[in-house]
Amino acid sequence: MLRKFSADRLFTGYTLLGADSVLVTDENGVVQDIVPIDTAGEGIEKYNGIICPGFVNCHCHLELSHMHDLVPRNSGMIKFLLAVMSGRQAEEEKVINAMQAADNAMKESGIVAVGDICNTADSIRVKSKSALLYHNFIEVTGFTAAKARSRFDQGAEMYAKFLERGMDRVSIVPHSPYSVSEELFELINAHQKGSLLSIHNQESIAETEFFTTGKGEMLELYKALGIDITHFVPSKESSLVRSIIKITGDHSLILVHNVNTSARDLKAIHRGRNLPLLFWCLCPAANVYINNELPDVVLLKNYNCKIVVGTDSLASNDQLNILEELKILQERFGELSTAELLRWATLNGAEALRIDEKYGTFENGKQPGVVNISGGENGSLAGTVSKRIL
Ligand SMILES: [Zn+2]
Repeated sequence: MLRKFSADRLFTGYTLLGADSVLVTDENGVVQDIVPIDTAGEGIEKYNGIICPGFVNCHCHLELSHMHDLVPRNSGMIKFLLAVMSGRQAEEEKVINAMQAADNAMKESGIVAVGDICNTADSIRVKSKSALLYHNFIEVTGFTAAKARSRFDQGAEMYAKFLERGMDRVSIVPHSPYSVSEELFELINAHQKGSLLSIHNQESIAETEFFTTGKGEMLELYKALGIDITHFVPSKESSLVRSIIKITGDHSLILVHNVNTSARDLKAIHRGRNLPLLFWCLCPAANVYINNELPDVVLLKNYNCKIVVGTDSLASNDQLNILEELKILQERFGELSTAELLRWATLNGAEALRIDEKYGTFENGKQPGVVNISGGENGSLAGTVSKRIL
């Protein structure tokens, strides 16, 4: 049986069409066509607002879902990281229940796929039964060269656990430029040719300050964790420019946060050779929660950066909801159109997670999920809510 959907506007993954276009799918949501309403026949399901493909959440930490409201807002990144590290232990049942609830909420709100950071294998139980598609980023850290091999081996062990459970969308990734040594970067880069990688990038000014001066708040983090940084030599290059050259061009790389990415960085990247294919993931709600600041989204756009969207975790967000992230961006950057924001959250996200054969757009044969965005007025996303309808 065919399903037919129309709304005030139909977002295809590329562009917004009007109420005169009808999305036709089979009963499982496989797209059959988009047709003019006067040829669509009977049985059209009519919605208010927008119909769009399912959202792709490119950055999440499902395993931190039990930490909602535990870290005070505006703590700054260093205090936030220390609070997460010291406060993440909890009863297994509590951790599992929180992940289950977060997974359900993501599905209800229209998210169909997630790029998820894993420091443990805790999330396997929830993910193995989930309706969502997960790409699992096994995250490793270690700023001391001597520990590179053992840290990588720990990550490889966890990687194997995911594979054993049939989760083959998995890769070993660096946590950040300030927590991964050059030796560990080399092991990650060499592990799996052409893999999809992700890294927390330029999340706070402290990171930039440390890389360019060797000073600042970041020293508190190393001190608290007992990490020896005497080998570190600051230079005029930012953390982004210094770390990105450690990943070869056969990979693709999702850069997450980018709060302090500058025009100088973007110019340097434009000149770079053999760099990975880059995606720029914005997690605005988490940036506001931790530091009350946002990336220069207009700058990223002007440099034609391929932008995608993430929720980060419930430790730094009130909900794992992509539409809420888009609303923050549109409110702060009035020039961002609804179509452009939706493209970042659908097509671009699907490309970043390498799942665009099935997700991201309403093209024949794809099965991207069908989402209704309703409420609000004047074509903006303010005041809207999203709901998965197929
Ligand atoms: Zn994160």
